[in-house]
Amino acid sequence: MIAGETLLIRNAMVLTLNARDELHEGTDILIREGIIAAIGPTPDDQMQRVTRVIDAAGCLALPGLINAHMHSQSGTMPGFGDRLSHPAFMWLTQAHTSRRSPDEIRLAVLLCAAQMLQTGTTAAIDHFPGQRFTLADMDAVMSAWAETGMRIALGMRFFDGEFGDIVPAGAGLSPDLAAAARAVDILKPHRLSGLREEMPEVVRRWHGHAGRLGVFPAPSNPDRCSDEALVFCAELAEKHDLGIHTHLLETRAQADIAAKRYGATTVAHLDNLGILSGRWSCAHSIWLTDADIDLMARRRAIAVHNPESNARIGSGRMRTPEMLAAGVPIALGTDGSGANDNLVMHEAMRAAATLHRADLADRNQWVSARDALRMATEGGAMAMRLGLNIGQIAPGFRADICLYRLGGPCWTPVNDPVAQLVFAETGASVAYTLVDGDILVDQGRVTAFDAEGALAEVSGMVASLRRRNADLFSVAHAIAKALP
Ligand SMILES: [Zn+2]
Repeated sequence: MIAGETLLIRNAMVLTLNARDELHEGTDILIREGIIAAIGPTPDDQMQRVTRVIDAAGCLALPGLINAHMHSQSGTMPGFGDRLSHPAFMWLTQAHTSRRSPDEIRLAVLLCAAQMLQTGTTAAIDHFPGQRFTLADMDAVMSAWAETGMRIALGMRFFDGEFGDIVPAGAGLSPDLAAAARAVDILKPHRLSGLREEMPEVVRRWHGHAGRLGVFPAPSNPDRCSDEALVFCAELAEKHDLGIHTHLLETRAQADIAAKRYGATTVAHLDNLGILSGRWSCAHSIWLTDADIDLMARRRAIAVHNPESNARIGSGRMRTPEMLAAGVPIALGTDGSGANDNLVMHEAMRAAATLHRADLADRNQWVSARDALRMATEGGAMAMRLGLNIGQIAPGFRADICLYRLGGPCWTPVNDPVAQLVFAETGASVAYTLVDGDILVDQGRVTAFDAEGALAEVSGMVASLRRRNADLFSVAHAIAKALP
């Protein structure tokens, strides 16, 4: 919002998600210069200073949802492959997402942003890219996110070791195919000396940009990185007060690699290095031991649950009920569109609250609708290290707010707003999306950038990538055949 601007959301039902979990019927939200100034009836003297009014009668106001794990580079991959092994899935992803131009990186970001903004998500952690990054890649992705108006933490994804879990030694690849896979240059590890220069430079260029963009160091996966690189991440995060984002124990193969390499679990290894802390947000966190769960709870390390992606790829299921009971902080993500074909947080919430139920007799342990909504708001805010700024509609918080129209079938009648948001809403009722009080979706249409123009360019981009990366597709298809 520009200096001096004051926006009034008039007459909304407001689900605050504040400490007292208050629900207000038919009230106002006053927003001044991007910050929520007041909730309640607006006095006449304040009315005169309002520069814009949104009539929200018949709408529910909710803090914007936070997608704590996604990959913008996979935005072009919905409906991609089915019944693939994890290595085959990962290799086809490499073929689709490698060697992109700055324009192509931007288009994938706009595609993701349009979908998230139109379905109630205002903030996300983008774990980018899938390959060794360059400064030009990082400039392209960050300037694209800046264009969208969303609140983003970019996880600078890197690896300075081998992708041992997707080129498994002795897993059935012929020597020729294993050699062809190893020869592909895109998965050559980053050099630690390069990372020591480039990661601080990306932080310098982009962390704090426009008050909405952040940058976190982000191992692709701890076991694809050297201990020196992991310790460097922790030092960089400490120095600039950043989070650290990573994939963690998504597959059983990764747990086996850790046992062999460290003689301990990955979680215990991070703790042995002295770096496990509340700065870490760990996507998937599936193959954890009881001791790992206890350790994550004690260190306040955040697990980012991705229930749909895990179900789609069949990688396992996070032990959410036990982890909640143990006190592990939990955020929620969709993962990329290659592993879970859309970025709709309402579906992720529904999956988080339902997928474990059939196997858990004690209903008191089930993840409730309120638990799932908390993961998508407060949990995500914690993962972005913005717990005092977003995730609530309360005075002093940033005005990241979505308005849902309550007239549709899934809201008629309004029985229980929280349960309906999680179990009934698909994101289709979103009428307005605001970040920092700026209206990015207005009456259902993205107004922050040219979303329709971006969509029109994506088919041509994907066709061009398929030609450019023909060598990668051929290795990927051979691996999919060998490791069905
Ligand atoms: Zn992921």
